[in-house]
Amino acid sequence: MATLVFVESAEGKIKKTSLEAVVYAAAIGGDVIAIALGTEVDDSELAGLGNYGAIKVLKVSDDRLNQGVIQAYANVLNQAMTSMGSDILVLANSSLGTPVSARVAIKQDASLVTNVTELPDTSNGFKVKRSIYTGKAFANVELTKARKVIAIKKNAAEIKEIGGSAAVEEFSPELTDSDFEVAITGVDKATGDILLPEAEIVVSGGRGLKGPENWGMIEDLAQELEAATGCSKPVSDIGWRPHHEHVGQTGVKVSPTLYIAVGISGAIQHLAGVNSSKYIVVVNKDEEAPFFKAADYGIAGDAFDVIPKLTEALKAAR
Ligand SMILES: Cc1cc2nc3c(=O)[nH]c(=O)nc-3n(C[C@H](O)[C@H](O)[C@H](O)COP(=O)(O)OP(=O)(O)OC[C@H]3O[C@@H](n4cnc5c(N)ncnc54)[C@H](O)[C@@H]3O)c2cc1C
Repeated sequence: MATLVFVESAEGKIKKTSLEAVVYAAAIGGDVIAIALGTEVDDSELAGLGNYGAIKVLKVSDDRLNQGVIQAYANVLNQAMTSMGSDILVLANSSLGTPVSARVAIKQDASLVTNVTELPDTSNGFKVKRSIYTGKAFANVELTKARKVIAIKKNAAEIKEIGGSAAVEEFSPELTDSDFEVAITGVDKATGDILLPEAEIVVSGGRGLKGPENWGMIEDLAQELEAATGCSKPVSDIGWRPHHEHVGQTGVKVSPTLYIAVGISGAIQHLAGVNSSKYIVVVNKDEEAPFFKAADYGIAGDAFDVIPKLTEALKAAR
């Protein structure tokens, strides 16, 4: 049995969520074959997937695939599954991975499951847990078809390095102009060095910060922690922060290892975007603020006292 893993990259580096997908596939058992599309990732980076459990990496060196064209990607993955005799495709539940997974599942007549949060239970069939209702509940799902397409959420598998290197091979699927009928004409990148959806640590501010002139302390803390910055919806609605930082049900959904919420009340619509974070730290001057119920650690105090002290303490600890 071979499991195919679609790996995504940014600026020449394999994304962490794709490393998790490789680890996830390795945990299923059988051979793990990764596939990377486009020409932006070099062979040594691809070979490094062996360190996470891949025995082989297929690379599809076609410049047209440097952009995430959903139809073309689905066509390539479909051909790779068939060619490698793979029963299972694992990929990250991303803005690219999720629509691609749906198209591949149709082409392969496969069981499809997205938003998967844990390794499968294969003791009796093939069962997975998926997050539903914006993370407020889980559905236990059985995949009954011979072929399966599994899109995993961030943190569904804990990254383990096992050493080793994977063989990198060229894979040449048949692609026609019709696969590229949706053209990406440009990409406007959000500002900030660390992208919010990918961030390992997020420092987020709410209306409790009183105004945009007070965001310096959030940015200082974020810089110290090498974190991305986020905010609540009203903060971006009023224009204190850019819209791409708005976290929640109607904004970006984040799954960092650490989410620090400062001066945010913890309304359900905000929690819907952060409840897959591994650890949540809340700083709020109202000890009855609902966010404390969702927090792993809470500081009941004035953000204007707490945050500069926290940043200083972190600096001193380094
Ligand atoms: C359909 C719908 C969708 C929505 N989607 C989203 C969404 O995606 N994301 C989102 O965030 N919201 C969303 N909302 C809005 C949401 O319901 C809340 O209104 C919003 O999250 C509140 O933002 P806040 O916590 O920053 O502000 P507030 O509710 O005003 O809370 C401010 C908090 O700061 C604390 N505070 C005040 N001063 C200090 C201080 N000096 N130090 C420390 N703490 C202090 C207060 O105690 C309070 O808890 C949505 C609402 C609707 C109806």
